[in-house]
Amino acid sequence: MSRKSLNSNVPIVEKSHARIQASEKDRKEQAEVIRRLTIQNVKMLKQVAALKEQATSEKNKSAQQQIEIDLMKHRNTNLSEALGSCHICWGDDNECPNCKGKGIAGWQAVNKRYFNIYILPCLEVMYEFNNSKK
Ligand SMILES: [Zn+2]
Repeated sequence: MSRKSLNSNVPIVEKSHARIQASEKDRKEQAEVIRRLTIQNVKMLKQVAALKEQATSEKNKSAQQQIEIDLMKHRNTNLSEALGSCHICWGDDNECPNCKGKGIAGWQAVNKRYFNIYILPCLEVMYEFNNSKK
């Protein structure tokens, strides 16, 4: 091979070398992108797990609050029946659809069973009705 033909191959070698360098640079950039995406993916998976746990906790909290509300409504109704009062407003609301504000204690028939459970023991203590207990 003549010297001239060797020299004529130099640009081709340089181009190949440049291509190899470029592909190496691309490979390193791709590796870096993959590394960063992997880190982001781990962070996001942790966030998703935390959000799932929070959602479950909120759901349980909401269910627990509903149970407490239902229990309080039940007690309110029983106590208003024990006193013969309006279970909605207890006579405090003139626009009450149930009693028009007249639902104070004694407004309607007393539920004797509930009266004996909720009210009578209090009266016995307050006025010492039942001396046999002492
Ligand atoms: Zn009422």
